[in-house]
Amino acid sequence: MEKEIAKRFIKGISASPGIVIGKACVFQDILYLVERRDVEEEHTEQEIARLKQAVRQVIDELIQDNLRVSQDIGKREAEIFLSHVAILEDPYFISQIFQDIRENGINAEASVLRQIDEFRAAFEKMDDPYIKARDQDLSDIGKRVIQKLIPSQRNICDLEESIIIVASELTPSDTIRLDREKVLAFATESGGKESHAAILARSFGIPAVVGLEGLVSKVKKGDLLVVDGDMGMVVINPPEEVIQNYQNLQKTRESYRAELQKLIPLPSETLDSHEVRLWANIGSLVDLEYALHFGAHGIGLFRTELPFLMWRRFLSEDEQFSLYQKVLTQANGREVTIRTLDFGGDKFFEDGGSHREKNPFLGYRSIRVFLKEKDLFKQQIRAILRASAYGHVKILFPMISSMEEIRQVRELFESMKEELRREGVPYSDKIPFGIMIEVPSVAIIADQLVKEVDFLSIGTNDLIQYTLAVDRDNDLVNSLYQPLNPAVLRLIQTVTEVAKKANKPVTLCGEMAGNPQYIPLLVGMGLMDLSMNPASLLEAKKILRSITYERWKWIAERALGLSLAEEIRKLLSEEYDRIVLAAPDAPEIQAFQEYEF
Ligand code: PEP
Ligand code: MG
Repeated sequence: MEKEIAKRFIKGISASPGIVIGKACVFQDILYLVERRDVEEEHTEQEIARLKQAVRQVIDELIQDNLRVSQDIGKREAEIFLSHVAILEDPYFISQIFQDIRENGINAEASVLRQIDEFRAAFEKMDDPYIKARDQDLSDIGKRVIQKLIPSQRNICDLEESIIIVASELTPSDTIRLDREKVLAFATESGGKESHAAILARSFGIPAVVGLEGLVSKVKKGDLLVVDGDMGMVVINPPEEVIQNYQNLQKTRESYRAELQKLIPLPSETLDSHEVRLWANIGSLVDLEYALHFGAHGIGLFRTELPFLMWRRFLSEDEQFSLYQKVLTQANGREVTIRTLDFGGDKFFEDGGSHREKNPFLGYRSIRVFLKEKDLFKQQIRAILRASAYGHVKILFPMISSMEEIRQVRELFESMKEELRREGVPYSDKIPFGIMIEVPSVAIIADQLVKEVDFLSIGTNDLIQYTLAVDRDNDLVNSLYQPLNPAVLRLIQTVTEVAKKANKPVTLCGEMAGNPQYIPLLVGMGLMDLSMNPASLLEAKKILRSITYERWKWIAERALGLSLAEEIRKLLSEEYDRIVLAAPDAPEIQAFQEYEF
């Protein structure tokens, strides 16, 4: 392999499978798009008028945001918007920008950016941590004003044609707002396998590769890229022979996928007829459509924060009710597990919703936000309860870490039922109450808390990161994020056994559930309900139908007796190869091993 060609290959971490060849678009923060222009002296007042108008529009928007968030969440959360207004109305701040435009003859957006940078540099030098933390506020304000000044740049990647998104980082809120019809693949410099952006890529059914060092500086808009989500590889402007090889691989993959479609009407059971229910994880009505198309048994996890991120605002009780009602109606009698909001960690609104935390995954996240912002909590519980009159709902609470939290949540839940009863609003009184097991503390006391809930759902994405102290979103420690670590497996086993003993349903809804190599182990451990990305359902069914339950139990017993994650991985991978090699329609998932990277 020639050195020149090898340079075009960048190795990263596979985050979503599949192969795509297409044009790149570099997704950038709008602050990087500002260009400096000279403005003639006679036009500087015009430039100032343009800026004044933009600032006025932003102030109006901020006041609206303040009102909405005060109503929906609380005054304290909404204060941030007023503090942004105060900065924009600060005579010193704004007059500095006017002066810059007049004296230096530069365009408004470049001047705003310069002013923001100067303030940030000054704040950086201060000892006061409160002032230091205002740095983020300044960049938020700058973005808002600049977006008004260069509105055509709003969609930084104009999605007129299908493209591959290249970015330094993609947040879940960036990702969810991309048009899934137009985005062929993601390739990012940072991010982990189980970051929410990666999970979203899998649910879009498109390839994604993360952890690609130096990618953004090597790619420019319009470059031809291969994104190989199977091998975790990106090729920039590949030569013809490489394109040809990848096109052949794509064809093999396509025919494999077409074969998988034939499984849709078949039951999801092992070779010796043990039923394993395959559920879907969804975040939208589009996901639901895919889930139903691929024959999901029901919805094992509805991540309700995703629609909020999509619309970039808090949804009112009525808006939520109407969304949940639609999901239930379309689910047509299937069970739908609605999980309450899981904000924090890596899921924030872009503007104002986040406040700075050193360790967001260990901080103000999920149920902790809910138990503090009770109004928000109550609105969502009421909306879910009201929707329960239209279908089969289960309610699921995320990131529970103690018995105390279960009791507080239960109390609020019961009080909302009581409120609706008094108001004469219909709801189902039989709605099962469940919790996510994603913090090790509750896995350890599962035998106690199982008595207080109706079902359990194991969230391995978080359970792994919290058990192993490895940030799921950090590519630097990706190799330490080990789903097969014996400590993780033991916790899963404990929870499964406890639930079985108590005769309570237990589901596993982390990304492990959709990984064909892990499915034999999980089913062998007794997990007969697996909830996954809709895109993984058919491959999961294929594996499931390939061998007997007895064999799977044997695999699980052997795996649980091993003490190294690597030994377990090897065992499962050999087993998988045995199954896959036996299948004539299996894809040939190997790309360019002969190249040196
Ligand atoms: C999990 O943690 O496994 C889970 C399903 O929740 P999320 O990925 O949304 O954190
Ligand atoms: Mg989780």
